[in-house]
Amino acid sequence: MAALRLAIVGLGKIARDQHLPAIAATEGAELVAVASRNASLEGVAHFATLEELLASDLPVDAVALCTPPQVRRAQAALALAAGKHVLLEKPPGATVSELSPLIAAAAQAGLTLFATWHSRFAPAVEPARVFLAQHRPRSVAVTWKEDVRVWHPGQGWIFEPGGLGVFDPGINALSILTAILPEPVFVTAADLAFPSNRQAPIAADLTLATPSGLPLTAAFDFRQTGEQSWDIRVETDGGMLLMSGGGARLFHDGRSLIDEPEREYPGLYRRFVGLVGAGRSEVDLAPLALVADAFLLGRRRSVDAFEG
Ligand code: NAP
Repeated sequence: MAALRLAIVGLGKIARDQHLPAIAATEGAELVAVASRNASLEGVAHFATLEELLASDLPVDAVALCTPPQVRRAQAALALAAGKHVLLEKPPGATVSELSPLIAAAAQAGLTLFATWHSRFAPAVEPARVFLAQHRPRSVAVTWKEDVRVWHPGQGWIFEPGGLGVFDPGINALSILTAILPEPVFVTAADLAFPSNRQAPIAADLTLATPSGLPLTAAFDFRQTGEQSWDIRVETDGGMLLMSGGGARLFHDGRSLIDEPEREYPGLYRRFVGLVGAGRSEVDLAPLALVADAFLLGRRRSVDAFEG
């Protein structure tokens, strides 16, 4: 089969850190263009905008939208209307409801829409899912605390409406949680800390539950300095399962089961190539719905202004 000819839209941090090397390592995928207002890549066709790319006669099969969530729906709609398969970075949109028309447009045109959750491709995720299918969880505690100044330098969009604030990384934990637990999860309470000068929370504490009554908590904080935490701790009737490093490592009662280097994005692109080949879409909105519900239900506190 001919390689999938890809264009990246938005050449920011994640496009450079992960998408470029992952595409280069993916059999059956080839980067042929970049749409970026500010940057270009040697040897790859460059357009300032997605509109210019779509108006050109360069053959492109699919676009990977690596722009902030606030602008992605309009870009996805344009690309689908032009007959391109679409890969959406996470979160799939700035709202839950904006995804339905995209799903319908992809289905009607026979195109692939892939709403990615990169953390689900971390090496500990599938083994954790299998463990939790065999050992009943009793409680779950998520701790996702990172320094926004280190991990999101200059990304003003993150604190704008639709940018999700601390849920930008927190939704990765929710994407793992919704993949590994044997039953659905819902939000029962949320405490959201908004800097007095920002439109999105810098910290959030969630209480969640499942239909069977499993107690879950999630603590998200963007103000963490020193040691960073991306941990999910599950007490089960078969011992304590700890996933750390965002899914890179897995421990059972302190014994290491998995400890592997980062390789989420190559898996993600393999899936995209496979979905296109099979003529299928994959859009799971459960993590985004949890974030939306935290905003719906959350108590809002004003905290110190954030200058970042
Ligand atoms: P970023 O560094 O700010 O890059 C986003 C890029 O999108 C910008 O460099 C810019 O590219 C383009 N862009 C920004 N505002 C735009 C606008 N108003 N209209 C059109 N294009 C615009 O952000 P990022 O960290 O790469 O994050 C992008 C997405 O990837 C987010 O949804 C984020 O959640 C997700 N993600 C990020 C990470 C991470 O660690 N940073 C990890 C996984 C997923 P040009 O200058 O090239 O036009």
